[in-house]
Amino acid sequence: MKFYLFPLVIIPLLLIFNCQKNVSEDSVSLAIINARIWTANPDQPWAEAIALKDNIITYVGSTKEITSKISKNTTIIDADGMFVAPGFTDSHIHLLEGGFHLSSVQLRDANTPEEFKKRIAEFAQTCEPGDWILGGDWDHSLWSGELPNRNWIDEVTPANPLWVNRLDGHMALANSLALKIANINNDTPVPEGGTIIKDKSGKITGIIKDNAMELVFPFIKEPSDSLKFRALEAAMQYLLEEGITSVHHMGSWDDLRIYQQYHDQKKLRIRISAAVPLSSWQKLTEIIENNNFSDNWLRVGGLKSFVDGSLGSHTALFHEPYTDLPGDTGLLVTSKKDLYEMILKADLQGLQSITHAIGDKANTIILDVYEQVRIQNGDRDRRFRVEHAQHLRHSDIERFRELGVIASMQPYHAIDDGRWAEPLIGDRIKTTYAFRSLLDSGANLVFGSDWYVAPPSPLWGIYAAVTRRTLDDKNPDGWVPEQKISVEEALKCYTISPAYASFEESMKGSIAPGKLADLVIIDEDITKINPETIKDARIMMTIVGGKIEYQSE
Ligand SMILES: [Zn+2]
Repeated sequence: MKFYLFPLVIIPLLLIFNCQKNVSEDSVSLAIINARIWTANPDQPWAEAIALKDNIITYVGSTKEITSKISKNTTIIDADGMFVAPGFTDSHIHLLEGGFHLSSVQLRDANTPEEFKKRIAEFAQTCEPGDWILGGDWDHSLWSGELPNRNWIDEVTPANPLWVNRLDGHMALANSLALKIANINNDTPVPEGGTIIKDKSGKITGIIKDNAMELVFPFIKEPSDSLKFRALEAAMQYLLEEGITSVHHMGSWDDLRIYQQYHDQKKLRIRISAAVPLSSWQKLTEIIENNNFSDNWLRVGGLKSFVDGSLGSHTALFHEPYTDLPGDTGLLVTSKKDLYEMILKADLQGLQSITHAIGDKANTIILDVYEQVRIQNGDRDRRFRVEHAQHLRHSDIERFRELGVIASMQPYHAIDDGRWAEPLIGDRIKTTYAFRSLLDSGANLVFGSDWYVAPPSPLWGIYAAVTRRTLDDKNPDGWVPEQKISVEEALKCYTISPAYASFEESMKGSIAPGKLADLVIIDEDITKINPETIKDARIMMTIVGGKIEYQSE
C-alpha cells in the first residue's frame, strides 16, 4: 500500500485540472484508490475507490471517478489491490476489563527475579499512591523456580499495595502493604483449600494460594480514574490494530462515566455503544429524557441482564441434564418473572433489552419473555438481543426471526468450546453456535469476541465462523460443519448487522455516501483466499471518522 499526500510530480497537472473542473479544493479530504472494496451495501456490493469529506464518505466508485474529484489537499491512499471493508464492530466486549489486562504490569516474560523487580519498580512509578498494582501473570519457572517474595519488591512499592498473580491465577504475591491492608500476618489461620507460604523462620512471604486468596480479594480497591483511563487508552489502541472501529460494551454505569469523560475531552478513538444493567432501567430512562448521551461516538445501548451462567462451569441452563452430570441442568440466575417485569417496564420506555442466555432452556426462557412483552406492549421496532445464544433447541431457532430478536454470538468461542463441549452436552452440539441455521431462518446475527474472555480479533472470528476448525485442530473439516457460513455472511456480522443491532445502520456499518468514514484495510481479499488463512491476514490500516487511527508498519 502506498500512502502519501498528493504526489508531487503530478500536482501541477491535476491542480489545473481541478480548477478547470471547478471542483472545490476541499471537496475530498481523503481518497482510497485501486482497492478491492467490499461495501456491505447491496446496491453497490463492490467498488474500487472511496472519497471522504472529513468524517463522512462522499463517493464510492471507480478509481477513475474518484481521481477526478481530488484536490491538492486530498490525502490519497493507493491501496494497490488490497481489501477494504467497513470498520469492524465487536458486538460484545468488556472494554475496560480488557484494557486493564493490557495496561497492568507485564510480568509474563520476566525471566529473572531482577527483571521481575525492575518491571514492578517502573510500573509503581506511574501509579498514584494507594493504587493497587494487579495482574502480572508471572511465571517462576522462567528463572530458578524460586517463588517470588515480598522482600523482593517491598522497597520499590512503598505507597502501593501489590497483588500480582501467577499466569494460571492459582497463586499471587502480595507485598507487605497489601498484607497489612488485608490483615494477614504470620498467625492468620489458613482457609481450607488454600495456602499461605512461610519461610524457614515462619514469616509469611507474600505468596498466597487458591482459597486463601479470598483473604485479599475484598480489600482490593477499585482502580483510580487515571488507571481506568490508561486501560481505556490501551484497549482502544489494541482494538484499532484489529480493525475495530466500534464496540458494543457490556458494563456498568461507572464504565460509562469514564467513557463520557473521555468523550468530553474528544479523546475517544473508537465508537462505543455501552449497555448498563437492566436493574437500572429507571436511571437510564431519566438519562435519555435529559438527553445527556448519544452521538456518533458514545451512546447508551440498552439494558443488560443474565438468564444463566456458562457451559464450562456447568451453569448454563439446559432443558435436559448435562450428559456428564446426570440430574444437573445448570443454573437460573434471574427468575423469568423478574426478567419479564423489568423488561416489560423498560420496553414501555422504548429501551432495548440485551440478555445473556447460553443454555437452551435459558434461550427458551428469554424468547418467551420477549414474546410476552411484545404481546403485552404491542409491536414496535425494539430489536431485542440475546447475547451468546449458544445452545438452541431446534424449535427456538425460528423464533429469533419471528420475534425479530438479534442473536449476538462469538465465533471464537465455537472453535474453543468445540474441543470439549461434546462430553458435556452430547448430541446437543448439533445446534450449538448454530450460525447457519439462524441465518437460514432469516434471523439477524451479529458477532463479537467477549474480550477479555477471548481475543478481540474479527479476522479470527471470521475464520472461526467460516471454518469451524477447533483450536486443537482436531476437526480439520469443521466442528459441526453444517453450521459453517460464508466469508461475506461473517463480514456482515461484523459490520452492517451490528450497526442495525445498535440502531445505527443509517450512519455506519456499510460503505456508502453519507455514512461515517469508518474503514479497515486488509492486506488480502479475505473473500478470495483460502479460508484457513483468513486469521493470518494483516490489518494494514484502520480509519475512524475519516482519521487514520492505525497504520501497520
Ligand atoms: Zn460477556
